[in-house]
Amino acid sequence: MKKYRKINQCPSCGWTPSKNQEELPRDHCPNCLCGIHHETGDGLECGGILEPVSVWVKENGHWEVIQRCQLCGKMETAEMTKEDSTIKVLSIIAKPLAMPPFPIERLEDLTRMMGGQGDLGKRGGDRNEP
Ligand SMILES: [Zn+2]
Ligand SMILES: [Zn+2]
Repeated sequence: MKKYRKINQCPSCGWTPSKNQEELPRDHCPNCLCGIHHETGDGLECGGILEPVSVWVKENGHWEVIQRCQLCGKMETAEMTKEDSTIKVLSIIAKPLAMPPFPIERLEDLTRMMGGQGDLGKRGGDRNEP
């Protein structure tokens, strides 16, 4: 099991836990989801900032933040907690969708191919009603 290191101040946004949050085990900042990279595998301290790059859901339904160390580039995961900022989580999920690596028009073609309604906003009158 991964051991948790409490963060007392976020290295990225400066967040600090309030009185009743102090004793919670926490390996990342609930405000911006950044953490501090402590281990490099050889028991050495890295000290780099782990910035959130994505979010994934495990088979058991638990959500984890995927973080990447700005210093050494290593990827880490951090289990999400109830106190994590929902807006921040959503913005991480929405980021690739807001900046797709292909023209946005392709999305319409793709959804049409999958049998969905591909029209984004405009209504097409060429669909046959059953
Ligand atoms: Zn933060
Ligand atoms: Zn690192």
